[in-house]
Amino acid sequence: MIQRGDAEMIRLTTSDRPHKLYRMFCSLAPLARPDPLGAIALGVAIFFSTMNPHPANAQEKKSKVTGGSSVRSSSAASELARLRADVIEKMKESRAGTKKLLALHEEQAKRLTAEFQQRRELHNQGLISRAELDQSEQALIAATARVEEDKRWITETDIAITEASMRDVLLGLPAMAPGGYSESGTLIRFNGAASWSLSDAGKIEKFFSQTFGHDLPISAFGQTLTHDRLKFDHRGAMDVALHPDSNEGRSLLSYLRQAGIPFLAFRGAVTGAATGAHIHIGRPSLKTAVTAESPSECCKR
Ligand SMILES: [Zn+2]
Repeated sequence: MIQRGDAEMIRLTTSDRPHKLYRMFCSLAPLARPDPLGAIALGVAIFFSTMNPHPANAQEKKSKVTGGSSVRSSSAASELARLRADVIEKMKESRAGTKKLLALHEEQAKRLTAEFQQRRELHNQGLISRAELDQSEQALIAATARVEEDKRWITETDIAITEASMRDVLLGLPAMAPGGYSESGTLIRFNGAASWSLSDAGKIEKFFSQTFGHDLPISAFGQTLTHDRLKFDHRGAMDVALHPDSNEGRSLLSYLRQAGIPFLAFRGAVTGAATGAHIHIGRPSLKTAVTAESPSECCKR
């Protein structure tokens, strides 16, 4: 179990840019954790295999049935809500498992760090070969990558749980005029009027790296498998793992407002997640996702 994904993660930590890393990570993570997420995927696949894949036809048929449509749509909505609640519950369980794995991996990295330092000393004294030292270093790099992978996955999960859990709250908020801004204890909203798309992400990344000297911590770029499972349309948005009240978070929000780029900033912790605070750049993900691939295809990966 501890060996999973080593090669991929070592590659990921070397030269890829952060959003690529995260996108690759998002596609790798479900493979790396087949037990809980595999169960979710199976559940989603079974559920959606029972749904009509042609909503337009379904609507046509419904209109012919007098009085039955509202009952059926309410039933579909409650079924979707039940599915999402189930997926969120499974994600929380999976998160708890990863948290335990993280503790093991951190312990392992600590031990390998001590071993590497000891071997370096021995090598300096000419008592062991360079190859023996390199072996120890490679083991340490792999262990560090595992720790980082666990942390990234936990962060991504917390953020997805937060957005999923806040969806009903967002749906209940009054519509906001273009350029409108509002702030509460849990949420900051800005309905920027600029036309925004993910292709503009580079400008934000550039601003951030030039200001803070490191990469923008993007946790989800566009639609990920997690959003597919939750049936959320996240295609035109990206999530940044920054607390909106941190120095970097405040600076980013100020930049986005100046550029007229819409965002939602989540401040608070959600039950079952340690934090989940982040900045969602783009319009809110309130629509139900329609993905090009069928659910069964998406969840086999
Ligand atoms: Zn988001």
